[in-house]
Amino acid sequence: MASAMLNSTITGLNSTGSYYSVLEDVAKYNVQLNWAERLWAAWYLWMQNDVLATGILSFVMHEVVYFGRSLPWIIIDAIPFFNKYKIQNTKVPTWKEQWDCAALVLLSHCTVELPQIWLFHPIATYFGLDYGVPFPKWTTMAFQIVCFFIIEDAWHYWFHRGLHYGPLYKNIHKLHHTYSAPFGLAAEYASPIEAMLLGFGVVGTPVLWVSIVGDLHLLTMYTWIVLRLFQAIDAHSGYDFPWSLRKLMPFWAGADHHDLHHEKFIGNYSSSFRWWDWVLDTQAGEEANKKRRERKLAQIRAKKAQ
Ligand SMILES: [Zn+2]
Ligand SMILES: [Zn+2]
Repeated sequence: MASAMLNSTITGLNSTGSYYSVLEDVAKYNVQLNWAERLWAAWYLWMQNDVLATGILSFVMHEVVYFGRSLPWIIIDAIPFFNKYKIQNTKVPTWKEQWDCAALVLLSHCTVELPQIWLFHPIATYFGLDYGVPFPKWTTMAFQIVCFFIIEDAWHYWFHRGLHYGPLYKNIHKLHHTYSAPFGLAAEYASPIEAMLLGFGVVGTPVLWVSIVGDLHLLTMYTWIVLRLFQAIDAHSGYDFPWSLRKLMPFWAGADHHDLHHEKFIGNYSSSFRWWDWVLDTQAGEEANKKRRERKLAQIRAKKAQ
């Protein structure tokens, strides 16, 4: 229960009233906590059921972030000024396409993804996930999140590349490739099997981390999920701006990388970074094909010369 979990730092509580009365009590007796920590602690104490408290928080957060982050892209698609930044600028999604896509994504969130979201709390706390207050240091959070990005990117590369194998592509991954010019909402437009397989990299990485390292806070997990959702939605946005993150960090994948994957169907399999596709020579697009051809020709010439 929350009270058992939080008692070491939270004292003098009346958890039977409204959320605001619990919050007032937390604030009165725990002046050392900042406002965010007080809101967080009061939520768990008021709910009196930690699995339910985390479940509701996770579900609401996922919906708000997913559709909230997709909204600016829906607006940008409707403004002609931005068309010059759209990568496949002749293929602007219609309202119907976006509506159908949002409906399937919402259905997937409420069915296949719901048990995953609900099971996260009991599984992760079994392995030692902390969800009490105070929150961890931001430096600890930042370090762990960078590690999650690197690990999840590797998972995504191999499983996504595997999903492009004939029968797996036809039966599972083809649905995600419905849109050859993707848009923000299409980030999670996928079959339930794909949602579980690739979603496991996102949720399983922090679980694996806490089971080995033994140190992880739920807030770090939430920050990671929010950033990974931003990454996925932005990568599907179809827009590459002069100020896009990849211009600052050339190894960042971004929309430029994933848009080409949707257009060409082959190559560019990783999620956040470009290094797996660089090292394993699976870059998509004409330029990469040309380089591959040149390398092959050079090999043949070298063989003949021997
Ligand atoms: Zn694919
Ligand atoms: Zn995609």
